[in-house]
Amino acid sequence: MNINKNYLELQDSYLFSTIAKKVSEFIKANPNKEVIRLGIGDVTLPLAPVVVEAIKKAADEMGKKETFKGYGPEQGYAFLREAVKKYYSRKSVELESDEIFISDGAKSDLGNILDIFGLDNTVLVPDPVYPVYVDTNIMAGRKIVYADANESNGFLPLPDDSVKADIIYMCSPNNPTGAVYTKEKLKKWVDYALKNNAVILFDAAYECFIKSDELPNSIYEIEGAKECAIEFCSFSKTAGFTGTRCGYTIVPKTLERDGVKLNKLWLRRQTTKFNGVPYIVQKAAEAVFSEVGQKQIKENLQYYNDNAKIIAETMDEKGIWYTGGKHSPYIWLKCPNNMTSWEFFDYLLNNIGVVGTPGAGFGKNGEGYFRLTSFGDREKTIEAMKRFRSLF
Ligand code: PLP
Repeated sequence: MNINKNYLELQDSYLFSTIAKKVSEFIKANPNKEVIRLGIGDVTLPLAPVVVEAIKKAADEMGKKETFKGYGPEQGYAFLREAVKKYYSRKSVELESDEIFISDGAKSDLGNILDIFGLDNTVLVPDPVYPVYVDTNIMAGRKIVYADANESNGFLPLPDDSVKADIIYMCSPNNPTGAVYTKEKLKKWVDYALKNNAVILFDAAYECFIKSDELPNSIYEIEGAKECAIEFCSFSKTAGFTGTRCGYTIVPKTLERDGVKLNKLWLRRQTTKFNGVPYIVQKAAEAVFSEVGQKQIKENLQYYNDNAKIIAETMDEKGIWYTGGKHSPYIWLKCPNNMTSWEFFDYLLNNIGVVGTPGAGFGKNGEGYFRLTSFGDREKTIEAMKRFRSLF
């Protein structure tokens, strides 16, 4: 009997446990100081009222013989796929409903999609990056190469023709950097993928933070993307579903590799290994797309956007370099006075009781940078920035 030895290659993630340990030590030593957490990547506002109503109604349906639902379609109920389809058409992206697969969130599918790809593919991931892309490929034993994201490219790396990659991860608006690809820059990646027969895995989990019509919410706004890209999205940040769990994955039927449609492979994979998202949750997600739902989730998003603005304005005022904060809940700043990420973490915690996330936890290029998030409470965000101003 053997275990999958690739798991032994995974690095232990000390990032959030080290943060928690440092914060609890600080609280113990300073019981009267209020700690403000601007490091969390989770939402804090509750579900929209129309979503809660939909959950209650769906729960009632489940309690009656006439409307009870057992196993649903693995790909998701037609009512939700139609709603997603309609949502995409607002930016002139026309999808067919069987190109849409309802999931229990982006994270699962970002990992699971790898089932349909060969193990000898080379994977390209940006550095710094959301750690799931790297770890899921280490588990499978694939070769990983990195695209450097740094200050000189605005944390938006472009393709390098001398690097041969088969699977390419992209995340825009990005976690952790908050940077957003323009259509022109995204087109370069689409062209690279088409030329190299590669597949782009496009993570659009933060698309709802984009406020400009000029910026792409979906990779399918780029010509040629339906022949080279799979897109992942989620209701987690859009509508506060981090604990409710729902997302969707788009696999266009025009995307073929090795003479096989990837849509067909993914459908086969899902019908074999996945039994669908709960009816109640899909009804909740459907409500997000209703007129009232869109209005209500926009109010919550506005709250986070205003928090981001408060943080970004403080950085502007202090002349601190950063990306994000405009079309993203993340502000990725350069640590002042050449401090390392962890030095800056300690400096903020010990002097003003503010907690963020050290950039070094997201890859080597994250060293010297720091992530703040806008998912916190308004009053606390204001107070944290007041303390920040007094420090610099
Ligand atoms: N993709 C990125 C870039 C994320 O930051 C996150 C969550 O923080 C996810 C995906 C996961 O989303 P979900 O809650 O839908 O699994």
